[in-house]
Amino acid sequence: MSSIPLYTLNILFLVGVAALLLGILLGGWMVRRPKIWSGNRSLQLREAELEAYRRGLDYVSDGKTDQAIREFSLVARMNPENTDIYVRLGQLYRSKGEVERALRIHESLTVRPEIPLGVKVKALLELAHDCRTLGYCERALSILERAASLDPTNREVYQSMLGLYQETGDWESAYEIQKKLYKMRGGGNGKVLSHLKIEEGKVHLGQGRVKEALRCFKTAIALDKKCVEARLLFGDALERQGKNEKAIQAWEEVKEADPSFMFLAFERMEKAYFELGRYDHMGEKYLDHLRRHPGDYLTRMALARLYQKKEMYEEAVREFQEVLNHQPTLVEAYRILHQTYLEERRWQEASAETTRMLEILSAQEKRFGCSHCGYRSVAVFWKCPQCGHWDSVKLLDHGSAEVWEDAGHRGG
Ligand SMILES: [Zn+2]
Repeated sequence: MSSIPLYTLNILFLVGVAALLLGILLGGWMVRRPKIWSGNRSLQLREAELEAYRRGLDYVSDGKTDQAIREFSLVARMNPENTDIYVRLGQLYRSKGEVERALRIHESLTVRPEIPLGVKVKALLELAHDCRTLGYCERALSILERAASLDPTNREVYQSMLGLYQETGDWESAYEIQKKLYKMRGGGNGKVLSHLKIEEGKVHLGQGRVKEALRCFKTAIALDKKCVEARLLFGDALERQGKNEKAIQAWEEVKEADPSFMFLAFERMEKAYFELGRYDHMGEKYLDHLRRHPGDYLTRMALARLYQKKEMYEEAVREFQEVLNHQPTLVEAYRILHQTYLEERRWQEASAETTRMLEILSAQEKRFGCSHCGYRSVAVFWKCPQCGHWDSVKLLDHGSAEVWEDAGHRGG
């Protein structure tokens, strides 16, 4: 050792360090540039990979999940750099209920250091889907937030978030994400935003935070003036505060949104007027509405019931008859008319109404059904008018309607 001069040792050491550094650099380059190196794989191997991939896709479109998994696993073994195949493999495992396995595949993909951003975001989206399927909503959300920070322009990420927020009842966040999505799309739908606000308001109302609920319903109305539910609930919240007069005013607004749903407002107004000791107002309200919307049979039924409650039987019967003139198969109207006759001890008329109702019901009765598509008919048929099958007609079993319903779906 002593025969070797010190400077020679130094040079040897330096050469060693340089070689090591070169090795590290070269190794890193090889890892970062897998495509160039995979280019050296034999043409045969690449063709085999492509073939297996094509077969896998065919199996996927035929719904043969196990075979598709076999082919895609083959692709993954031949070319571990094909990151897309792992995304697909995970999807297939999830679709056959092996969600934990899907999760492990997608998770291992997300921790690979060298994969391109697009694949990484895709893998995170899949991983979030796996977590959601397993009921880990919190974890799914934090994964999606990570994906959003990597690619803030990816709409699919926000779409997934939106679904999760709706599922977990976080309506405030759902509203914000929906707004963001509309902004990205350059246009939106006030109806959807309105309903998200309504859902938020319902939660507040259910937990006794009436002021917050009112704020939500007000925003919902501003977003969509035609929203019936928002106006109904706005009135409900005011009523909860004991403001019956204001509640009635709010419910009156339902006719601005859609007058055919006024019957829902009237139900509430009857109660509020009763509490205010002004129940007599309701009759005039109904008549006023019916002058403008004579075909609104649900409101006419409400008026008839009001007459019935006040024991104004002649008027009640007149309104029910009017409803039945236009809605001759409305069983509910027969039922209450029948009841009204009974209260008045008009037995003959009660019995006549029952007979009329039974006649109408039996004339509509579907006795035959198609065992192929589930079509139902009053008259017998030999060629199904819906699906075109010959001799698929079966007698309907009225004792087990649900069983028949299922058979119809299976046939389709
Ligand atoms: Zn049919």
